[in-house]
Amino acid sequence: MAARIVDGKRVAAAMRAEIRERIQGLRRDNRGVPGLAVVRVGDDPASAAYVRSKAKACQEVGIAAREIGFPGFVPHDELVAHLEALNRDAAVHGILVQLPLPPHLDERAVLETVDPVKDVDGFTYANIGRLVENRARFVPCTPAGILELLDREKIEIAGRRAVVVGRSEIVGKPTAMLLLHRHATVTICHSRTADLAAETRRADILIAAAGRPRLITGSMVTPGAAIVDVGITRVGGRLVGDVDFDSVAPVASAVTPVPGGVGPMTVAMLLRNTLRAFEMGLGLGPAERSA
Ligand code: NAD
Repeated sequence: MAARIVDGKRVAAAMRAEIRERIQGLRRDNRGVPGLAVVRVGDDPASAAYVRSKAKACQEVGIAAREIGFPGFVPHDELVAHLEALNRDAAVHGILVQLPLPPHLDERAVLETVDPVKDVDGFTYANIGRLVENRARFVPCTPAGILELLDREKIEIAGRRAVVVGRSEIVGKPTAMLLLHRHATVTICHSRTADLAAETRRADILIAAAGRPRLITGSMVTPGAAIVDVGITRVGGRLVGDVDFDSVAPVASAVTPVPGGVGPMTVAMLLRNTLRAFEMGLGLGPAERSA
């Protein structure tokens, strides 16, 4: 059996079209335009590229994106003061702080400055707490994108065994929590897991988010499993996932490619969270909200 290749690019494009249409509708009704502020510190080229692609995606759907760059040596208090001003700015509905921050800044303290109702990355303690209680306001974008892909591909979650490889705060843990809320039986694996292959072989749904190129091979996958490859590592100028695609594809029922799988979904979910923040500001209830 050859796995279905899940086209994240196509799914993300469909989502962006839905978001664009919703924003056009709100504009027609004179409800205003959603605004996203993207805060970047330092001149890391990878961060700069991510921020550019997010700004471009915003522009395409009608979100007003504002990029605010600070030099790498910006003092903590100055950065915090700017974030507080963005919290007060009525034209800004979503605020994103591009990570990682330079080591002299306390990342947690900076993130906690963001007003939780504008925290479209879902990284503040307030939003993490809501997620754990299954009352999420903003779900972190990559985990949200993974669940959206599974849903749109009609991959059953409830009652199935899901294995998440990776326990980071931004991918592994929130993804495991979302799968748990959807009634999967969830195992989280990490760098100290004694026998990774024994765990991954039990998975009906396997999420690979370790950042280790081609860690998951065909012999670690049970026939018919659905595989989501979150990993992105640059190897010799190419982007390589955590899944050894060539050996896994003949065994699995579905697999997401790298690039073109989870990556485009992450950006689409940022747009959706920003739209949600805007709609919450308009006082639209969940029933009237779009996505
Ligand atoms: P991280 O480095 O913070 O966490 C990696 C996790 O993997 C850790 O919990 C670690 O315990 C675990 N791990 C490492 N080696 C392992 C091994 N050999 N066996 C089992 N577990 C192991 O990384 P992260 O921020 O969670 O990102 C993970 C990967 O996903 C990276 O490649 C990153 O670039 C990628 N990523 C992709 C997107 C996207 O949009 N597609 C978004 C975020 C991260």
